Amino acid sequence: MSKWMEETKKKIGALREEHFFDNWSKHKYGGITFYVYPALDVTDDWFKQRTDIYRINAEKLGVKAPEVNFFVYPSLEAGREMGITPSITFVKEREIHGHLKQSPGHELTHVLLGELNPTDNLPANGLWSEGTCVHLDGTKTDRKKHTLSLKLKDEILRTPWSEWRQNIPGNLYPLAGSIVQYYERQFGWDKVLGYLKEVRKSGANDEELSMRIFGFPYRELQKLWRDWLEKEEADRG
Ligand SMILES: [Zn+2]
Repeated sequence: MSKWMEETKKKIGALREEHFFDNWSKHKYGGITFYVYPALDVTDDWFKQRTDIYRINAEKLGVKAPEVNFFVYPSLEAGREMGITPSITFVKEREIHGHLKQSPGHELTHVLLGELNPTDNLPANGLWSEGTCVHLDGTKTDRKKHTLSLKLKDEILRTPWSEWRQNIPGNLYPLAGSIVQYYERQFGWDKVLGYLKEVRKSGANDEELSMRIFGFPYRELQKLWRDWLEKEEADRG
């Protein structure tokens, strides 16, 4: 776990000891217990959308959705005032701190990925974890278009993916999402799922897996993805 995550966890523990969360309202929907920031108005629809995304993604990933506690913050700023980054998932503890505007489907998917493969294999902030959580966040954003809109430098598009095994910078999450989007389109979801299950040690076996599952060297796949990304023609799905 990275240092800032470790510190956030400590901060949350301290707040809990001060009974800080005691007066947050509690709402149970499906397998999720939402704890809502005092006086924050959350609609039934908001809860329903989150639990639906969770259920649909659990099916897609072929795992049983674990029970989670989800602390809902009004905004990023509200969290920062408490010393917490409210877009964080503690996969092993199955606890989420998220704000309303963030796409909570993303954080919930981290929990599901933790059921598929341990976090030392799929590290929380590595390319494949983030890419999958972005791709399955339930917002239906086309990440190819999103990535193109960022006008990233060629240098970034050519950075070997193996450099992002542990961490991918936050501003490149859409790019990671477009990679998983490409794989699903090109090879089908079953192969992507097979890959996610078999990743070991933060992706140390990515080269071997790429050859075996997708039939291409990892670097060649990156080139194919780049060609697809840069192709301006209409994307049919
Ligand atoms: Zn994430």
